[in-house]
Amino acid sequence: MIPVTKPFLPPIEEYQKLLTNIWTRQWLTNNGPLVNELEHKLKDYFELENLLYVSNGTIAIQLAIKALNLSGEIITTPFSYVATTSCIVWENCKPVFVDIDPLTLNIDPELIEAKITNQTTAILATHVFGNPCDIESIERIAQKHNLKVIYDAAHCFGTKYKNKSVFAYGDISTTSFHATKLFHTVEGGAVFTGSKILLKQLEILRNFGHNGPESFAGLGINGKNSEFHAAMGVLNLNYIQSILDQRKLLSERYSKNLVNFSCQYQLITNDTHYNYSYFPIILESEDHLKKVISVLNANRIFPRRYFYPSLNSLPYVNDTGDLNNSDSISKRIICLPLYHTLNIEDVDYICMILKNIETS
Ligand SMILES: *Cc1c(COP(=O)(O)O)cnc(C)c1O
Repeated sequence: MIPVTKPFLPPIEEYQKLLTNIWTRQWLTNNGPLVNELEHKLKDYFELENLLYVSNGTIAIQLAIKALNLSGEIITTPFSYVATTSCIVWENCKPVFVDIDPLTLNIDPELIEAKITNQTTAILATHVFGNPCDIESIERIAQKHNLKVIYDAAHCFGTKYKNKSVFAYGDISTTSFHATKLFHTVEGGAVFTGSKILLKQLEILRNFGHNGPESFAGLGINGKNSEFHAAMGVLNLNYIQSILDQRKLLSERYSKNLVNFSCQYQLITNDTHYNYSYFPIILESEDHLKKVISVLNANRIFPRRYFYPSLNSLPYVNDTGDLNNSDSISKRIICLPLYHTLNIEDVDYICMILKNIETS
């Protein structure tokens, strides 16, 4: 069986050793030594000063919206995972969708200004599959209209844009360390910001609003993460280069094998050092997609329809705008299997099956 993804796991002895230390210290959560170690190592890795490790990538987005004190309308992309939109609604704001560029699959900045009203407070955009948005254009529009920018960078571990971690951009960037992501801590996530003031605010929000053991600065939530999760992150970080290298190798193999297979690929933005977090292919029709999935499944290969459906179709939003690219692409896109222990022979096998569908 070849699933779309498998989590990376370090050698179990390494995890057991860290567990023994946790047992000895009896410090399980609340900014413990492993959480601190992970935060330090991640800051070094990304060469960024301000980062907080949080419970998951969804809480990271909610914390970002709260820290920026957003209300009213937030401009966002319909082509993302549901959390991007649900966080906006959860925080009592209204998502206003702007269609995507059909090549990069990211929000199309050309269409943003037409959707700005006097209620708009921010742009929440996803770097889809780790591919950086048109950051300069979004920045220019945000400055002109005095809007905040949050990037849902859940897929971006290891992606660099203009020689900097892509997490460096936006007022706040968020990411996920969920087990299905290329770097994970089982559950987990992080927030990044260039502002010390926002960092402090996020830190208070993460810990129930505490600004001292017996005092509160305001409303907060529990966005902390545990020593057990941080331990997984500390270990996985030692393997990150090999994880990234293997994904690049497998992705290049897919591309090489599929030259004569008719499908469209995501266009990676210029000046990007890409992380190969997914291998999406866009087929010519939804019928063709269904056929491809059924043949792959019959061969015990399980790609994933991702992202599907387009988020404007969620039952709790009502958006009647023109979102043709997102509507169309979300019906025709699948991500092919890609994970550390997948090997070249598996990729060759998957591609052989795909190419046989084409000619049959
Ligand atoms: C995974 C993901 C999230 C949510 O992260 P969790 O850690 O699972 O809460 C949000 N946005 C995108 C684009 C994602 O892929």
